[in-house]
Amino acid sequence: MKKNLKLAVQKKGRLSDKSMQLLRNCGLDIENFQDRLIVSATNFNLDILFLRDDDIPEYVQDNVAHIGIVGENEVLEKGLDVEIVKKLGFGRCSLSLGIPEKSKINDVNDLSNKTIATSYPNILKNYLVENNVEAKVIELSGSVEIAPSLGVADFICDLVSTGNTLKLNKLKKSFKVLDSQAALIKSKIMDEDPELKKLFDKLLERIESSLKAQKSKYIMMNIPKNSLDRIIEIIPSLKSPTVLPLSDENLLAVHAVISENKFWDINEDLKKAGASGILSLPIENIIL
Ligand code: ATP
Ligand code: MG
Repeated sequence: MKKNLKLAVQKKGRLSDKSMQLLRNCGLDIENFQDRLIVSATNFNLDILFLRDDDIPEYVQDNVAHIGIVGENEVLEKGLDVEIVKKLGFGRCSLSLGIPEKSKINDVNDLSNKTIATSYPNILKNYLVENNVEAKVIELSGSVEIAPSLGVADFICDLVSTGNTLKLNKLKKSFKVLDSQAALIKSKIMDEDPELKKLFDKLLERIESSLKAQKSKYIMMNIPKNSLDRIIEIIPSLKSPTVLPLSDENLLAVHAVISENKFWDINEDLKKAGASGILSLPIENIIL
Protein backbone atom coordinates (compact mmCIF):
# COMPACT_ATOMS: atom_id res chain seq x y z
CA MET A 1 0.00 0.00 0.00
CA LYS A 2 1.22 3.50 -0.79
CA LYS A 3 2.27 5.71 2.09
CA ASN A 4 0.63 9.02 2.77
CA LEU A 5 2.45 12.20 3.72
CA LYS A 6 0.98 13.59 6.95
CA LEU A 7 0.47 17.34 7.20
CA ALA A 8 -0.61 19.08 10.43
CA VAL A 9 -2.67 22.27 10.19
CA GLN A 10 -4.45 24.38 12.81
CA LYS A 11 -7.89 22.93 13.50
CA LYS A 12 -9.71 26.16 14.24
CA GLY A 13 -8.17 29.59 14.38
CA ARG A 14 -6.51 32.35 12.46
CA LEU A 15 -4.42 30.08 10.25
CA SER A 16 -7.05 27.44 9.44
CA ASP A 17 -8.83 28.93 6.42
CA LYS A 18 -5.70 30.23 4.75
CA SER A 19 -3.90 26.91 5.26
CA MET A 20 -6.74 25.01 3.59
CA GLN A 21 -6.95 27.61 0.84
CA LEU A 22 -3.26 27.18 0.11
CA LEU A 23 -3.75 23.41 -0.23
CA ARG A 24 -6.69 23.90 -2.57
CA ASN A 25 -4.64 26.35 -4.65
CA CYS A 26 -2.15 23.50 -5.02
CA GLY A 27 -4.88 21.49 -6.74
CA LEU A 28 -5.58 19.22 -3.78
CA ASP A 29 -9.07 17.85 -3.51
CA ILE A 30 -9.84 17.50 0.18
CA GLU A 31 -12.77 15.58 1.63
CA ASN A 32 -15.30 17.40 3.74
CA PHE A 33 -13.48 17.87 7.03
CA GLN A 34 -16.07 19.25 9.40
CA ASP A 35 -15.21 18.16 12.92
CA ARG A 36 -12.89 15.41 11.77
CA LEU A 37 -9.40 15.08 13.16
CA ILE A 38 -7.88 13.59 10.07
CA VAL A 39 -8.90 13.70 6.41
CA SER A 40 -7.25 12.62 3.19
CA ALA A 41 -6.80 14.33 -0.13
CA THR A 42 -8.60 12.36 -2.82
CA ASN A 43 -6.04 13.15 -5.54
CA PHE A 44 -2.72 13.17 -3.65
CA ASN A 45 -1.17 10.83 -1.06
CA LEU A 46 -1.74 13.27 1.77
CA ASP A 47 -3.47 13.05 5.15
CA ILE A 48 -4.30 16.28 6.93
CA LEU A 49 -4.26 16.27 10.74
CA PHE A 50 -6.20 19.04 12.45
CA LEU A 51 -4.50 20.11 15.67
CA ARG A 52 -4.13 23.02 18.09
CA ASP A 53 -1.41 25.26 16.78
CA ASP A 54 0.67 24.94 19.98
CA ASP A 55 0.95 21.20 19.41
CA ILE A 56 2.01 21.27 15.76
CA PRO A 57 5.80 21.79 16.24
CA GLU A 58 6.01 18.83 18.60
CA TYR A 59 4.01 16.48 16.39
CA VAL A 60 6.32 17.42 13.52
CA GLN A 61 9.49 17.05 15.57
CA ASP A 62 8.36 13.55 16.54
CA ASN A 63 7.56 12.76 12.88
CA VAL A 64 3.95 11.88 13.83
CA ALA A 65 3.05 14.56 11.32
CA HIS A 66 5.80 14.73 8.69
CA ILE A 67 5.15 18.39 7.90
CA GLY A 68 3.02 21.22 9.30
CA ILE A 69 1.74 24.72 8.74
CA VAL A 70 2.14 26.90 11.83
CA GLY A 71 3.16 30.39 12.95
CA GLU A 72 6.92 30.92 13.27
CA ASN A 73 6.18 32.27 16.75
CA GLU A 74 5.03 28.80 17.89
CA VAL A 75 8.09 27.12 16.39
CA LEU A 76 10.50 29.51 18.11
CA GLU A 77 8.66 29.43 21.42
CA LYS A 78 8.68 25.66 21.59
CA GLY A 79 12.35 25.55 20.59
CA LEU A 80 11.86 22.13 19.00
CA ASP A 81 14.04 20.52 16.41
CA VAL A 82 12.10 21.06 13.18
CA GLU A 83 13.10 22.67 9.92
CA ILE A 84 11.36 25.83 8.67
CA VAL A 85 11.13 25.13 4.96
CA LYS A 86 9.16 28.05 3.60
CA LYS A 87 7.47 31.21 4.84
CA LEU A 88 3.95 31.25 3.48
CA GLY A 89 3.06 34.95 3.45
CA PHE A 90 -0.09 34.80 5.61
CA GLY A 91 -0.77 34.94 9.36
CA ARG A 92 1.53 37.92 9.61
CA CYS A 93 1.79 39.43 13.06
CA SER A 94 4.40 40.69 15.45
CA LEU A 95 5.21 39.75 19.00
CA SER A 96 5.32 43.20 20.55
CA LEU A 97 5.40 44.96 23.85
CA GLY A 98 2.04 46.38 24.93
CA ILE A 99 2.12 49.11 27.54
CA PRO A 100 -0.60 51.16 29.29
CA GLU A 101 -1.72 54.11 27.12
CA LYS A 102 -0.26 56.63 29.54
CA SER A 103 3.12 54.92 29.94
CA LYS A 104 6.14 55.81 27.94
CA ILE A 105 9.08 53.58 27.16
CA ASN A 106 11.82 54.36 24.71
CA ASP A 107 13.77 51.18 24.42
CA VAL A 108 14.40 47.76 25.87
CA ASN A 109 16.32 49.17 28.84
CA ASP A 110 13.10 50.68 30.16
CA LEU A 111 11.90 47.12 30.83
CA SER A 112 14.49 46.76 33.54
CA ASN A 113 12.97 45.46 36.80
CA LYS A 114 9.46 45.52 35.32
CA THR A 115 6.98 42.65 35.26
CA ILE A 116 5.87 41.48 31.82
CA ALA A 117 3.02 39.05 31.17
CA THR A 118 3.20 36.88 28.06
CA SER A 119 2.24 33.57 26.45
CA TYR A 120 5.69 33.52 24.83
CA PRO A 121 8.03 33.35 27.85
CA ASN A 122 10.90 31.67 26.00
CA ILE A 123 11.06 34.14 23.13
CA LEU A 124 10.75 37.06 25.57
CA LYS A 125 13.36 35.73 27.99
CA ASN A 126 15.82 35.16 25.15
CA TYR A 127 15.20 38.67 23.94
CA LEU A 128 15.83 40.11 27.42
CA VAL A 129 19.03 38.09 27.81
CA GLU A 130 20.27 39.22 24.37
CA ASN A 131 19.70 42.80 25.43
CA ASN A 132 21.16 42.39 28.91
CA VAL A 133 17.97 43.45 30.63
CA GLU A 134 16.60 41.90 33.80
CA ALA A 135 12.85 41.81 34.05
CA LYS A 136 10.30 39.48 35.58
CA VAL A 137 8.41 37.38 33.07
CA ILE A 138 5.00 35.97 34.02
CA GLU A 139 3.60 33.23 31.81
CA LEU A 140 -0.13 33.37 31.06
CA SER A 141 -1.78 31.01 28.61
CA GLY A 142 -4.37 33.50 27.35
CA SER A 143 -6.05 36.89 27.85
CA VAL A 144 -2.66 38.40 28.47
CA GLU A 145 -3.93 41.87 27.66
CA ILE A 146 -5.91 42.20 30.88
CA ALA A 147 -2.85 41.61 33.09
CA PRO A 148 -1.86 45.31 33.47
CA SER A 149 -5.38 46.43 34.47
CA LEU A 150 -5.53 43.60 37.04
CA GLY A 151 -2.23 44.79 38.46
CA VAL A 152 -0.58 41.47 37.65
CA ALA A 153 2.03 42.97 35.34
CA ASP A 154 3.38 46.36 34.22
CA PHE A 155 3.50 45.45 30.56
CA ILE A 156 2.55 42.64 28.25
CA CYS A 157 4.31 40.96 25.33
CA ASP A 158 1.79 39.54 22.90
CA LEU A 159 0.97 38.92 19.25
CA VAL A 160 -0.36 42.01 17.52
CA SER A 161 -1.61 42.57 14.00
CA THR A 162 -4.02 45.53 13.96
CA GLY A 163 -3.54 46.64 17.58
CA ASN A 164 -7.33 46.72 18.17
CA THR A 165 -7.23 44.26 21.08
CA LEU A 166 -4.58 46.38 22.76
CA LYS A 167 -6.68 49.49 22.29
CA LEU A 168 -9.76 47.84 23.80
CA ASN A 169 -7.70 47.16 26.91
CA LYS A 170 -6.28 50.69 27.09
CA LEU A 171 -2.87 49.54 25.98
CA LYS A 172 -0.70 50.71 23.12
CA LYS A 173 1.91 48.97 21.03
CA SER A 174 5.50 49.68 21.94
CA PHE A 175 8.51 48.05 20.28
CA LYS A 176 8.65 44.76 18.43
CA VAL A 177 10.33 41.62 19.72
CA LEU A 178 9.68 39.37 16.71
CA ASP A 179 8.02 39.36 13.29
CA SER A 180 6.09 36.23 12.48
CA GLN A 181 4.08 34.62 9.70
CA ALA A 182 2.80 31.15 8.88
CA ALA A 183 5.49 28.75 7.74
CA LEU A 184 5.76 25.26 6.30
CA ILE A 185 7.81 23.14 8.68
CA LYS A 186 9.13 19.63 8.31
CA SER A 187 10.45 16.88 10.49
CA LYS A 188 14.19 16.39 10.25
CA ILE A 189 13.89 12.65 9.77
CA MET A 190 11.03 12.62 7.27
CA ASP A 191 13.29 12.63 4.21
CA GLU A 192 15.02 9.46 5.29
CA ASP A 193 12.03 7.74 3.70
CA PRO A 194 12.40 8.14 -0.09
CA GLU A 195 8.69 7.65 -0.70
CA LEU A 196 7.76 10.45 1.70
CA LYS A 197 10.53 12.68 0.40
CA LYS A 198 9.20 12.30 -3.13
CA LEU A 199 5.69 13.26 -2.01
CA PHE A 200 7.06 16.20 -0.04
CA ASP A 201 9.11 17.52 -2.98
CA LYS A 202 6.06 17.28 -5.20
CA LEU A 203 3.88 19.16 -2.70
CA LEU A 204 6.54 21.80 -2.08
CA GLU A 205 6.86 22.46 -5.79
CA ARG A 206 3.11 23.02 -5.97
CA ILE A 207 3.14 25.30 -2.93
CA GLU A 208 5.98 27.35 -4.40
CA SER A 209 4.25 27.71 -7.75
CA SER A 210 1.03 28.78 -6.07
CA LEU A 211 2.83 31.36 -3.90
CA LYS A 212 4.62 32.72 -6.96
CA ALA A 213 1.31 32.98 -8.80
CA GLN A 214 -0.30 34.87 -5.93
CA LYS A 215 2.41 37.46 -6.18
CA SER A 216 2.06 37.80 -9.94
CA LYS A 217 -0.43 39.25 -12.39
CA TYR A 218 -1.10 38.49 -16.01
CA ILE A 219 -1.33 41.83 -17.81
CA MET A 220 -2.68 42.53 -21.28
CA MET A 221 -2.87 45.75 -23.27
CA ASN A 222 -3.13 47.15 -26.76
CA ILE A 223 -0.32 49.38 -27.98
CA PRO A 224 0.53 51.39 -31.10
CA LYS A 225 2.99 49.33 -33.19
CA ASN A 226 5.67 52.00 -33.07
CA SER A 227 5.84 52.07 -29.25
CA LEU A 228 6.69 48.36 -28.85
CA ASP A 229 10.34 48.97 -27.89
CA ARG A 230 9.39 51.53 -25.27
CA ILE A 231 6.65 49.28 -23.82
CA ILE A 232 9.01 46.31 -23.57
CA GLU A 233 11.45 48.53 -21.70
CA ILE A 234 8.76 49.46 -19.17
CA ILE A 235 7.43 45.94 -18.47
CA PRO A 236 9.50 44.10 -15.82
CA SER A 237 8.34 40.77 -17.20
CA LEU A 238 9.15 37.33 -15.79
CA LYS A 239 9.88 36.24 -19.36
CA SER A 240 9.89 38.11 -22.63
CA PRO A 241 6.35 39.44 -23.25
CA THR A 242 4.01 37.89 -25.81
CA VAL A 243 3.30 40.20 -28.76
CA LEU A 244 0.28 39.49 -30.96
CA PRO A 245 -1.02 41.18 -34.11
CA LEU A 246 -4.50 42.77 -34.09
CA SER A 247 -6.96 43.33 -36.92
CA ASP A 248 -6.01 47.01 -36.86
CA GLU A 249 -2.55 46.89 -38.42
CA ASN A 250 -1.30 49.87 -36.45
CA LEU A 251 -1.90 48.11 -33.13
CA LEU A 252 -0.39 45.16 -31.26
CA ALA A 253 -1.53 43.26 -28.18
CA VAL A 254 1.09 42.71 -25.51
CA HIS A 255 0.71 40.08 -22.74
CA ALA A 256 3.12 39.58 -19.85
CA VAL A 257 3.46 38.20 -16.33
CA ILE A 258 4.68 40.73 -13.80
CA SER A 259 4.95 40.83 -10.04
CA GLU A 260 1.81 42.25 -8.46
CA ASN A 261 3.48 45.13 -6.68
CA LYS A 262 4.89 46.45 -9.97
CA PHE A 263 1.47 46.77 -11.63
CA TRP A 264 0.56 50.19 -10.25
CA ASP A 265 4.13 51.47 -10.64
CA ILE A 266 4.24 50.90 -14.38
CA ASN A 267 0.63 51.75 -15.18
CA GLU A 268 1.22 55.47 -15.73
CA ASP A 269 4.30 54.87 -17.88
CA LEU A 270 2.43 52.35 -20.02
CA LYS A 271 -0.38 54.83 -20.62
CA LYS A 272 2.10 57.58 -21.48
CA ALA A 273 3.73 55.25 -23.99
CA GLY A 274 0.34 54.81 -25.71
CA ALA A 275 -0.98 51.58 -24.13
CA SER A 276 -4.75 51.31 -23.82
CA GLY A 277 -7.22 48.76 -22.46
CA ILE A 278 -4.73 47.63 -19.82
CA LEU A 279 -6.08 44.54 -18.03
CA SER A 280 -4.63 42.69 -15.08
CA LEU A 281 -5.77 39.15 -14.24
CA PRO A 282 -5.00 36.83 -11.32
CA ILE A 283 -2.91 33.73 -12.05
CA GLU A 284 -3.63 30.35 -10.47
CA ASN A 285 -0.23 28.72 -10.87
CA ILE A 286 3.17 29.42 -12.38
CA ILE A 287 5.45 26.55 -13.25
CA LEU A 288 8.80 27.84 -14.40
P1 ATP B 1 -5.32 27.10 19.05
O1 ATP B 1 -6.68 26.80 19.55
O2 ATP B 1 -5.03 26.35 17.77
O3 ATP B 1 -4.23 26.92 20.08
P2 ATP B 1 -4.74 29.96 19.26
O4 ATP B 1 -5.85 30.70 19.91
O5 ATP B 1 -3.51 29.63 20.04
O6 ATP B 1 -5.34 28.64 18.60
P3 ATP B 1 -4.87 31.83 17.03
O7 ATP B 1 -5.32 33.04 17.78
O8 ATP B 1 -5.84 31.18 16.10
O9 ATP B 1 -4.21 30.73 17.99
O10 ATP B 1 -3.56 32.24 16.22
C1 ATP B 1 -2.86 31.32 15.46
C2 ATP B 1 -1.63 31.98 14.89
O11 ATP B 1 -2.02 33.05 14.02
C3 ATP B 1 -0.69 32.63 15.87
O12 ATP B 1 0.17 31.72 16.50
C4 ATP B 1 0.08 33.59 14.96
O13 ATP B 1 1.12 32.91 14.31
C5 ATP B 1 -0.97 34.00 13.93
N1 ATP B 1 -1.52 35.37 14.11
C6 ATP B 1 -1.68 36.29 13.14
N2 ATP B 1 -2.20 37.43 13.61
C7 ATP B 1 -2.39 37.26 14.89
C8 ATP B 1 -2.92 38.09 15.95
N3 ATP B 1 -3.32 39.33 15.73
N4 ATP B 1 -3.01 37.57 17.17
C9 ATP B 1 -2.63 36.31 17.40
N5 ATP B 1 -2.11 35.49 16.45
C10 ATP B 1 -1.98 35.95 15.22
MG1 MG C 1 -2.61 28.00 20.45
